[in-house]
Amino acid sequence: DAKFLSDIEIAQKNVMTHIKDIASKLSIDEDDIEMYGKYKAKLPLTLIDQSKIKKSNLILVTALTPTPAGEGKTTTSIGLTEGLNKIGKKATVVLREPSLGPVFGIKGGAAGGGYAQVVPMEDINLHFTGDFSAIEKANNLLSALIDNNIQNKTNNLGIDPRTIVWKRVMDMNDRSLRDITIGLGGTANGIPREDGFNITPASEVMAILCMAQSFKDLKEKLGNIFIGFTFDRTPIYARDLKAENAMAILLKDAIKPNLVQTLEGNPAIIHGGPFANIAQGTNTILATKMGLSISDYVVTEAGFGADLGAEKFLNIKCVSGNLKPKALVLVATIRALRHHGGASKEQYNDPNTERVSAGFANLEKHIENCKKFGLNPVVAINAFPSDSDDEIQLIQQKCAKMNVKAVLAKGFANGGEGMTDLAEAVVSEIEGGKNKFTPLYNWNLSIKEKIERIAKEIYGADGVDYSKQAIQDLRKIDTLGLQGLPVCMAKTQKSFSDNESLLARPTGFRINVREFEFATGAGFVIPILGKMMRMPGLPVIPASEHMFIDDNGKISGLS
Ligand code: ADP
Ligand code: MG
Repeated sequence: DAKFLSDIEIAQKNVMTHIKDIASKLSIDEDDIEMYGKYKAKLPLTLIDQSKIKKSNLILVTALTPTPAGEGKTTTSIGLTEGLNKIGKKATVVLREPSLGPVFGIKGGAAGGGYAQVVPMEDINLHFTGDFSAIEKANNLLSALIDNNIQNKTNNLGIDPRTIVWKRVMDMNDRSLRDITIGLGGTANGIPREDGFNITPASEVMAILCMAQSFKDLKEKLGNIFIGFTFDRTPIYARDLKAENAMAILLKDAIKPNLVQTLEGNPAIIHGGPFANIAQGTNTILATKMGLSISDYVVTEAGFGADLGAEKFLNIKCVSGNLKPKALVLVATIRALRHHGGASKEQYNDPNTERVSAGFANLEKHIENCKKFGLNPVVAINAFPSDSDDEIQLIQQKCAKMNVKAVLAKGFANGGEGMTDLAEAVVSEIEGGKNKFTPLYNWNLSIKEKIERIAKEIYGADGVDYSKQAIQDLRKIDTLGLQGLPVCMAKTQKSFSDNESLLARPTGFRINVREFEFATGAGFVIPILGKMMRMPGLPVIPASEHMFIDDNGKISGLS
């Protein structure tokens, strides 16, 4: 019973299928996969098949504005995949790789929960197939090349060290490394300058890997990484340091999607894990295309609530990768609706139809937003034991008025068996054929116009204000010729607005762009609406303190 067994206990009790048999279910020959032991494999990019992608069905799982606990997008994505397979559809779940920082910090792993998990759970949450390490090395190679270039008198590009925006990365929550000084100790040891570490998922190399369309495209994007300016204000890119080939060499295996399995032995592809705040927050485009090439249905997830994750997924990833989702699942929990209706953390588990009714305003706005993309969502009520029938019915009635189905999703407690209703609802939405995905904005609009479109249409803001710094940054964006890039909004996930205390469906507000960053390699401009974390810290009592490994290597306490 999910109530009594922890996620890792459920995962360890599961009898896994050999990965070659998972591949063979997908009609992939054993010789065509690259096995990493018995339960993990890399899929070569040659398996991507454009004609199959067109015929297959992409399903995006997103959520209402979440509470800090997370509302279950990953769990629902995995559960829905089990449910689809149960009703006879060939479905694959495609997800992000977890980062070690959260695993040992506060949030825990990201391999689903209860009876909706991907396995081997420990491997997926730990070093997996080494992709994160490869990304870290490629990132740090570029850092080393930069400092080597400013150290040497010959072959020197004249980079002004004070303008360097490229940082080192490490996949650990370690706040002491946020701001550091490097190059101390005399002339042989580099030129002193300020630097800092970001966590690996915040690396632009990660964002690039996830946006790359091919290995060739990966190399080109790596070359386009902006580093800083010379003393005479010439922009310097990674290609000026001839870095892109060496970086790509380090990523030659990381670019291949990873095949694993769900608890019920269905295929799962887990590949890439960019931050959802300053980056796009979804798995690689190549993994999504791989999933569509090898199965009839692909279920995938975008980080945070739909105002961030789905918006970026649809406007950036889908446009860039020419992907057309055919269905959208909006995950809601009654706990989150109570929260938006005014419940305090202590009251999250107390049934209260008035609060749910008031909090529904949040879900209502997300539903309206999905429709703006031409996608009629299916609401998945991710079931918790404290949900009351009255609350469930209330949500179903309110959704029905908006022509939207709201289905109870019991993947956490019951696996695929608890998800067949949702699977049927999603298939019927797809077969209804009414969903016609259209992006919200044309990339050709100016950066300001694109931001305004998102702010007004998706957030419900009255308008956008820009700080002095932001106005300066806009000029730089113009000089560097980046007006045609999409915008990757960096905003709190806790509210539609940029003020995290405004719950439900705020109105009468404006948003403030504090500054801009840009990812010239990945190909987007990042308007920063608040303070963005790139290197998290550990909590007072880190999750690591509750972990244990016995003398035979069996792990417990990993969540
Ligand atoms: P998200 O992907 O939206 O961040 P997750 O699926 O990772 O959310 O779920 C967040 C946490 O909540 C996980 O620890 C998961 O095990 C737990 N969880 C999700 N759904 C349920 C549920 N129905 N009942 C109990 N716990 C759940
Ligand atoms: Mg998730």
